[in-house]
Amino acid sequence: MAVYGSPLYVYSRHDIERNWLEFDQAFGQHPHLVCYAVKANSNLAVLNTLAKIGSGFDIVSQGELERVLAAGGQANRCVFSGVAKTKQEIKRALEVGVRCFNVESASELDRIEAIAKSLNTQAPISIRVNPNVDAKTHPYISTGLKENKFGVDIDDAMDLYQRAQDSEYLNVQGLDCHIGSQITEVSPFLDALDKVLTLVEQLNKNGIEITHLDLGGGVGIVYDDERTIDIKAYVEAMIAKVGNIEIILEPGRAVVGNAGIFITKVEFLKQNSEHSFAIIDGAMNDLLRPSFYNAYHQVLPVNENSNGIQASWDLVGPICETGDFLAKDRDLSLSQGDYLALMSAGAYGFTMSSNYNSRPRVAEVMVDGDQHHLVRERETIQDLFYNESIING
Ligand SMILES: *Cc1c(COP(=O)(O)O)cnc(C)c1O
Repeated sequence: MAVYGSPLYVYSRHDIERNWLEFDQAFGQHPHLVCYAVKANSNLAVLNTLAKIGSGFDIVSQGELERVLAAGGQANRCVFSGVAKTKQEIKRALEVGVRCFNVESASELDRIEAIAKSLNTQAPISIRVNPNVDAKTHPYISTGLKENKFGVDIDDAMDLYQRAQDSEYLNVQGLDCHIGSQITEVSPFLDALDKVLTLVEQLNKNGIEITHLDLGGGVGIVYDDERTIDIKAYVEAMIAKVGNIEIILEPGRAVVGNAGIFITKVEFLKQNSEHSFAIIDGAMNDLLRPSFYNAYHQVLPVNENSNGIQASWDLVGPICETGDFLAKDRDLSLSQGDYLALMSAGAYGFTMSSNYNSRPRVAEVMVDGDQHHLVRERETIQDLFYNESIING
């Protein structure tokens, strides 16, 4: 903190590598590609760390594609997901040669076909189906139910595959599903896989061959005291069902979530008859998950403080919103000026941050063994409005 200031995200290169390798190694000899979901944490140093150990990438925008390329990742290891790919995004992805488009609607299939035709090339595609299983997670991060905007109804997928198969400009490769995030049991994944495999059989009967199954991301991590998925058991259960088909996975949170922390400083302590508030320099614009999903992050003191005020503290930020809290009811001994670490903040932390209340976005640091590196500078006040202008008159 002396070097980089506060608030701050800190990531561990070692933990990112370990988490990705756990997925990769669980597959043994089975054909597979672990495509890290860039939206969880898209810092170039994170992407570069993963590219160096052979990771693929799951991207949802051209911005993420360009980040991957800038970080040394390979286009032919990228799968392109997302419900609203623009013409420009599709064109760029075809030009650099992404591994596969995960197609989420009939109109998107038409758009990809038209652009492939104009470039006189073939677009590799998977259809993202919605297997209609309940991932038993927070409704905002559940994506595999009929009421969600993602993917196509599994019963309508056959038609789309037939159309893709008949097109000169589309190359059917795979079948894709992603049922949600922070899933802590294997059973929803296996239920989805069973439904997907039934469709694969029907496709085979119609002469449509699937060469990979993309089973999405969504493996949950420990934030509090929940039990979560054993990755080896989860991967082995999938391998047991699929025969020789290559498996692609898109883990995001499980790779970076517990490889990062958010550091914040206690600015003021404020107690009234009802509540003890620790007013901190970090806020919902820096780490949105508590306000947005009512998410829990463990809070640890950076240095034990036995001389502080012992209470059950709410950690609240400087933003003018009652929902601006990072934690509630935490038993801590605190003094003004203490630093606190919010644990497991490596996923959907910095990437969901904003400049709300005209707060510069925080710095990011990566620890590599006994070295530490600034991997994103703290924004300056000038950065906040450098591309704005006033009108004359
Ligand atoms: C968000 C997302 C992921 C990653 O989800 P995690 O829960 O972070 O593993 C993977 N695939 C798709 C299509 C996504 O939208």
